[in-house]
Amino acid sequence: MKVAARRRASTLNPTPDRPARSARRVSQSRVLDTSALIGWPLPELSGGFVVPAQEDELLRVSPDRGAIFAGLGLVVSEPSAQAVSSASDAARASGDMSGLSEIDLSLIALALERSALLVTDDYRMQNIATALGVEWRAVGEAGISEVWSWELRCVGCGATQAAPDSPNERRNDYGNCRVCGAALRLKKQR
Ligand SMILES: [Zn+2]
Repeated sequence: MKVAARRRASTLNPTPDRPARSARRVSQSRVLDTSALIGWPLPELSGGFVVPAQEDELLRVSPDRGAIFAGLGLVVSEPSAQAVSSASDAARASGDMSGLSEIDLSLIALALERSALLVTDDYRMQNIATALGVEWRAVGEAGISEVWSWELRCVGCGATQAAPDSPNERRNDYGNCRVCGAALRLKKQR
């Protein structure tokens, strides 16, 4: 968890020449329900927000992934009582309350509090999110491609070039920098 927080902090630290992109990223935090934790490729989970109770839930429904919960790069956060109260009010108003778990409510509250994208296939959660003005996506529609883009970046001089759009035959070997000759790595665009 500490590692995840540190990585996130460095990712979000705006570089002086790119303030706009950094701001855009902050606004695209994602709150992940447990079906995303089960269904998504592991690298896509990094940086996603979850609530503490999801660790036990994941252990129960997907023991393999539950066992590596701490290594998934998730940001584990409990929503404020005020946000939970707002989510509960909306759930009662829409009649969805009885179909929700405490985790469901907490996830809605967390997305509300952080102005994050709520990733869930649960139509009750989607319904309440809509009522609260929280943006949501179904698990299959919220993959990393719409949030991150990728580029090749030189480990030496930092020069960048477009990521290859075809599959890589030699995994993790992206050739060498045109400027300085050092190795290129595939990185999130910044
Ligand atoms: Zn270079």
